[in-house]
Amino acid sequence: MHEEVTALNPYHMAVQQFEAAAEKLHLSEDMREVLRQPKRELTVNFPVRLDSGRIKTFTGYRVQHNVNRGPAKGGIRYGPDVTLDEVKALAMWMTWKCAVVGIPFGGAKGGVICDPKQMSPAELERLTRRYTTEISIVIGPHSDIPAPDVNTNSQVMAWIMDTYSMHEGFSIPAVVTGKPLSIGGSEGRNDATATGVLFVTRQAAKRIDMPLRGAHVSIQGYGNAGAIAARLFHNEGCKIVAVSDTRGGIYNESGLDPSAVLRHKQERGSVIDFPRAQRVRVQDVLEVPCDILIPAATEGVLTAANAGRVQARIVAEAANGPTTPEADKILFDKDTIVIPDILANAGGVTVSYFEWVQDLQSFFWGVDEITKKLEVIMNRAFSAVAEKADQYHCDMRLAANMQAISSVAEATQVRGIYP
Ligand code: NAD
Repeated sequence: MHEEVTALNPYHMAVQQFEAAAEKLHLSEDMREVLRQPKRELTVNFPVRLDSGRIKTFTGYRVQHNVNRGPAKGGIRYGPDVTLDEVKALAMWMTWKCAVVGIPFGGAKGGVICDPKQMSPAELERLTRRYTTEISIVIGPHSDIPAPDVNTNSQVMAWIMDTYSMHEGFSIPAVVTGKPLSIGGSEGRNDATATGVLFVTRQAAKRIDMPLRGAHVSIQGYGNAGAIAARLFHNEGCKIVAVSDTRGGIYNESGLDPSAVLRHKQERGSVIDFPRAQRVRVQDVLEVPCDILIPAATEGVLTAANAGRVQARIVAEAANGPTTPEADKILFDKDTIVIPDILANAGGVTVSYFEWVQDLQSFFWGVDEITKKLEVIMNRAFSAVAEKADQYHCDMRLAANMQAISSVAEATQVRGIYP
């Protein structure tokens, strides 16, 4: 029962991870209470006119977990399964993520319960503009800055920026990141999450003397994080042996061509039926023979039920919350290096931070400068977490959480409790 609850409820999972780190840090119960709960949870129910003329009411959320280190920051996801508990978990992970890479943001997340695959672009635009209006009481360039997540992209961010700006009467690009370049987006933002995953995987591979050239890589999820990771790891000399999306997976032990798979997905709506590959089930890509596994889809996919069958030596979590606490133990006991989400996928929020800074200054940097700055931040964070894991003989998730939670606790402590 316990296992099922944690696998299914991301917030329970996030709290369990928090408690483990708080315990190890000997954090006081008072401080734990402050950090365990989100600061603010907004639920909005709002009507949208569909193309048919019908009016449908949607439910959306914006949760701000903690803002002691800076304005809240976090993506917005669209999906039929979005829940408040999922958004709360993702907001908490954002707080720790920003702290672990040392960027001056707190954590937030948003979501709307909808099925974007069943909606027209015009319906998605009206939904986005109305949702933005509803949450505009809590977002802003100095208070809470959204970004893309599952089923949202740079076009959705452009609609958010435009809607918010229309209300204010002038353009405010810094209200949201992950925008198109033409309206204040940043070079490198589109690839940033996957680029960060590559940087920390290089470091992890070095620790076990595993060359990336020739390494076999399996990826769950073929969207922004997964498809770009496939391209970057392929360019690094890795063999992408398996990938999947919601409809299924494909496997070829001699390696897949990531660009051809992406074209196939764009034309056919899925990676399945890609020529010269064996069809496998969605969950099989987690268990195929490979050196590096990149979960890049959703939460709770590595559980007590399948972690024992993971063959990879490195699991680099591009997705948020893919591994349950039970699976973490199994993987740690097998000496699998799990580079935890709050570290592995922090490249996205780091370049979002660069985008925000550039927007506030109206002064834009080149892609080389951005990639260099990102690499410095990711490598520094990886080293600090790996050192802590060695010091405490623990897995990298616990080490990363300890690192992050102590920094947020310190900020909370030094600011004091108002009034
Ligand atoms: P996306 O919508 O671009 O892509 C998601 C992909 O996962 C799609 O290919 C979809 O088919 C697949 N997918 C969804 N549910 C699945 C399931 N149950 N099984 C198999 N495949 C499934 O989203 P994204 O932006 O790439 O985000 C993916 C993950 O990465 C999420 O956990 C997100 O929070 C995390 N992340 C994204 C960013 C970013 O910058 N986009 C940053 C940090 C973390």
